[in-house]
Amino acid sequence: MKPIRLDHPAVSVAPPPADLPLGLIPLTDADHELIAAANAVLGRHYRTFWHTVAAAIRSKDGRIWTGIHIGTTVGRLAICAEAVAFGRAVLEGDGTIEAAVAVRHPKPDEIDRELAVVSPCGACREMILDHAPEAAIIVMAPEGLVKLPVRTLLPLPYRR
Ligand SMILES: [Zn+2]
Repeated sequence: MKPIRLDHPAVSVAPPPADLPLGLIPLTDADHELIAAANAVLGRHYRTFWHTVAAAIRSKDGRIWTGIHIGTTVGRLAICAEAVAFGRAVLEGDGTIEAAVAVRHPKPDEIDRELAVVSPCGACREMILDHAPEAAIIVMAPEGLVKLPVRTLLPLPYRR
């Protein structure tokens, strides 16, 4: 079995291609540190089914807050890693989100054994937009890893 990579390849450290589509923001070194923080948490705390996704949030003051997904037997009660990380940012930090990323662990039967950046679920898009409408989310695009404004990921959010 191929070992799991805890670091993240610096695929986007090079200057962004000139033809990067509108709205895509190239990653910075700080963004790669954010991904590495999420990978490190998942490497330490991964448990099949119970803890399969980790997230990292960078607040406006530069501090990083990590979280781990909490699986539950009743699937809809599961708590996303982003929510755990944001709770820490609120309780221990300034409660802001400048950038966020989530990474997933491969399932036991998957051939690719690398941790991978995963887009936030719809509920987390709503949560991040509610609390940090200017936040950027790191996602995997066809061009590689990029950041997108959360508004772009949720153009028509739920409102009541
Ligand atoms: Zn979520």
